[in-house]
Amino acid sequence: MPELPEVETVARDLQRRVAGARIADAEVRWPRTIAHPEPPEAFVEQVRGAQISSVGRRAKSVLVNLADGRVMTVALRMTGALIVAEPGSADDPYARVVFRLADGRELRYRDVRKFGRIGLWEGGGLRRRVAPGVRRRVAEPRRPYRVGDVFGRHGPEPLAASFSSARLAARLAGRSARLKTLLLDQSFVAGVGNIYADEALWRARLHPLRAADTLSPEEVRRLHRALRAVLRQAIANRGSSFSDYVGADGEPGANAERLHVYRRTGEPCLRCGREIRRITVGQRSTHFCPRCQPLPTERP
Ligand SMILES: [Zn+2]
Repeated sequence: MPELPEVETVARDLQRRVAGARIADAEVRWPRTIAHPEPPEAFVEQVRGAQISSVGRRAKSVLVNLADGRVMTVALRMTGALIVAEPGSADDPYARVVFRLADGRELRYRDVRKFGRIGLWEGGGLRRRVAPGVRRRVAEPRRPYRVGDVFGRHGPEPLAASFSSARLAARLAGRSARLKTLLLDQSFVAGVGNIYADEALWRARLHPLRAADTLSPEEVRRLHRALRAVLRQAIANRGSSFSDYVGADGEPGANAERLHVYRRTGEPCLRCGREIRRITVGQRSTHFCPRCQPLPTERP
């Protein structure tokens, strides 16, 4: 599943290749891919003729910013990909939505397993936080739904300048949840999934089952540095590809070979040589080094 670095790679590719392009027409081949507006015909009607001004990212979604202020959000989920196809390229049977650009190219939303979702929203939006557990309705028939609402329950971006070690410390304070569980919680911090949670904890030498409120100030600083470092390294390597993930050029990323613990069960730890172990935390496979990442038996 694409996480922050993979989605960031796609967004940067698209910024380079389709910023300024005009969407001449669109074709929806799998209606459920379109989350908003409904029905898909309305989506096609509203996106036709729009100009793409820039492409960015929030959490695990690609943001296609349109020149008139509206924003198209693309949540890639399990197997989604956004690929720019040159004129005359062979059709793709897994393309669920095709945007025909005025210059003859196509921006194809490809998704083998069809879990990804695309929405078209007004710009701006609410910034107030929604209480945990309260689900906001996605479509509000009486008013335009704004892109800010889509991310109303998401936590901060870990690579933002404002995401300081002090801010992380404040978010961890008073939380008894396990570190692995918290890192995967999108309302705690946005964009981190299974790969980079495991990598960050290994790098920070913290056991995945540590309770958040037991970390010393030094351990919080280590986690903060490690989280940002693993994400930055993965972006530099264009993301980690295990099965379906590709950049907008259709090529896989090179970061999978550079991971330290993820999917290395039984192999030697690259820091100490001890065998990497795998446990299940909240139904997710979790990889760690039992020597580098010990679990203290008593609360400090
Ligand atoms: Zn180790």
